[in-house]
Amino acid sequence: MWTEIERVIDANQKFVVTSHVNPDGDSIGSALALCEFLRARGKEAVVMTSDEAPMVYRWLDPGGDMISPATEEDHHHITSADAVFIVDVNGWERLGSIGEIIRDAAAVKAVIDHHPYREEITPITVVDTSACSTAELIYDLITSLGGPLSRRAADGLYTGILTDTGSFRFANTSPVAHRITSSLLDAGVEPATVYDLVYNQNSEARTRLMGKVLSGISFAGNGQVSWLTVTRDMIADAGTRPEDTSGFVDAAMTIAGVEIGIIFVEAPDNKVRISLRSRGNKDVNKVASNLGGGGHKNASGVVFQGSIEEAVIAVTGEAVKAL
Ligand code: 5GP
Ligand code: MN
Repeated sequence: MWTEIERVIDANQKFVVTSHVNPDGDSIGSALALCEFLRARGKEAVVMTSDEAPMVYRWLDPGGDMISPATEEDHHHITSADAVFIVDVNGWERLGSIGEIIRDAAAVKAVIDHHPYREEITPITVVDTSACSTAELIYDLITSLGGPLSRRAADGLYTGILTDTGSFRFANTSPVAHRITSSLLDAGVEPATVYDLVYNQNSEARTRLMGKVLSGISFAGNGQVSWLTVTRDMIADAGTRPEDTSGFVDAAMTIAGVEIGIIFVEAPDNKVRISLRSRGNKDVNKVASNLGGGGHKNASGVVFQGSIEEAVIAVTGEAVKAL
């Protein structure tokens, strides 16, 4: 599985590792772990993303190796790179502002991802949807090539698995995921510390906003679809930022009988950021794809152009159809 990727590593010296817009625990953890591995092999490597990494993942990067958000001055890393690794994404559009720079760069490109296949960025592509996370794939790559797996890389990979499996609760929590996790603990990862760093850093303001948002929960499809709405005013009044709503959608899934949970977050320019979650066979990737987004069967997202009221009608309509 890794022959071509190994060839890319061996044949090149300067690397950029990048991932999708709104980087999450898996994209950041995987990219940093791969960067560490490349450096351990004597290569030059940096991590770069179009959007800013959330504060809760900054501890993974004590050396400041991650350039995020990337500005125009940072583009030279891409234009002078021998190779660009694109992890946790396999579509140009989800790379954000640096996508175009990467597309035009002379560098060899390689993709490592666990999302359903979208489009060919490069023929050197490893997409495995059976992996719980991209971190699982990067773990496999590092160990297949004989390591080393540093403590920092292990922290990144653990964070990727933790966040993409919903703390080992989602259906993608496989025996493989647990076996890898076990090795990562052997490598020194402290699960309670990581959990606290990633999930227990909320502000009082976020908690109050969450209370408001949860109390406005709505239902459709005989209680099988639940959704939450967050307007820009609600975010501003609470003294919070849109990213503070991350994780709210999980609460919609804790209600008995709910099969699909959705959150609508009002964004600038008459756009709405939507996250969808589902149980079992209910396919929210299809729901999101029908509206121009994507993701996985049980977790997907889309950016809707229109008002929050229009978004609710369109998306809950599609969600009820997916029941
Ligand atoms: P989240 O709701 O946590 O932002 O995203 C859940 C999943 O849906 C992620 O795995 C992500 O890849 C995918 N996703 C979220 N937003 C979008 C989007 O706008 N377009 C596409 N194609 N996928 C998305
Ligand atoms: Mn992922």
